[in-house]
Amino acid sequence: MGQVQIKQVQEVVAAERAYALALLERAVRIQSGTHNHEGVRQVQALFAEELVKLGFTVTDIEHAHYADSLLATRSGKGLRILLVGHSDTVFETGSDTAFRLDTQKCHGQGTQDMKGGMVVMLSTLRALVKTDMLPDCRYTVFLNSHEEVGSVESANTLERLARGHDVALVLESAGKKGEYVCGRKGVLEYELQVRGVAGHAGNTVANRRSAVEELAYKIINLREWVANQEGMLFNAGVIQGGTRSNIIAEEACAELDIRYVTPQQRMAFEKRLRAISQTSVIPGTRTKLVINSAFPPMTANAANRLVQELAEESASLLGHRIKGEERGGGSDASLLSAAGCAVIDGLGPRGGGEHSDREFVYLKSITEQTELLAVLLCMISENSDRFSNKSKKLRIKRLEQQR
Ligand SMILES: [Zn+2]
Repeated sequence: MGQVQIKQVQEVVAAERAYALALLERAVRIQSGTHNHEGVRQVQALFAEELVKLGFTVTDIEHAHYADSLLATRSGKGLRILLVGHSDTVFETGSDTAFRLDTQKCHGQGTQDMKGGMVVMLSTLRALVKTDMLPDCRYTVFLNSHEEVGSVESANTLERLARGHDVALVLESAGKKGEYVCGRKGVLEYELQVRGVAGHAGNTVANRRSAVEELAYKIINLREWVANQEGMLFNAGVIQGGTRSNIIAEEACAELDIRYVTPQQRMAFEKRLRAISQTSVIPGTRTKLVINSAFPPMTANAANRLVQELAEESASLLGHRIKGEERGGGSDASLLSAAGCAVIDGLGPRGGGEHSDREFVYLKSITEQTELLAVLLCMISENSDRFSNKSKKLRIKRLEQQR
């Protein structure tokens, strides 16, 4: 891309600024916590309406326990490019959806995670369509309805889309200095449900079978094992059990979150977890293990590296330097990468206060990331031959062998 085209991109993006902010305000003012299906549906409808104006055909992907996800396609000749976002947030139904602008920032629920990213996606497409600069490629937009609970019912669709596309661009937020995401830890979520036998805390002397105490042993045991593994993290985030201090607890339950780096770590951990679930420190207690959700790790590979290099080049054409960073959190990028698609994540605007009522994005970053995505789309299209189908097939085969 020459400097003339870069300048043109910057001009058309600047012209979209008011549109982008208005769209972000509309999206943020709709409460769309994952379990607020009506809210999620309204956010999807808002983006669907805009996508249709840009020549996309929109369909819904139905789910059993969540609002529908949105799939939009636009026909073309070249590469198959997938753009991914999610319409849900972590906030509870009925929570405050105030939207506020100051001179530098835009504050509100989901501004960073990730309505800001979806707005960048939309205004990039709009800027390029309006000026006839959108490269001739086949575009698919997927807006997931329940990423924040682990994309349980979207995982199959994401895997299918990964196989049918050459490049996937994920619009989660950029890092503090505009870093894109080049790696993510794998995420595992488990529940340990322990059953003991209720009894009088003072009168039961032998055979005390406390579910709470058994669960405590198990948590400490697992925590110590994870502490010795390179790059792994353990969190017992929720624990419940017992009814009163003078009653031996009949039931106890813990929700665990494990972060890992390699498939070998996952196998070793699950072996340990099964063994711990099947044996009891306190005889007579029983434990049930429930697996809730999982994101595979997103690891470095040549295809991901290629898109990431193009993003770095795009940034430098725009006069910035960006680099990749690894994150502890999973995202849909992890699922896409594990299914063999070339992926880059972290293309949304940077901000702070994610998952809290202090959430914001920088206004400047919305413009910067829109310019970056626009140039990146052009660069990907210019480098079409480097995303060959042959190398993708080989990659998928290798991934399958690793499983
Ligand atoms: Zn997110």
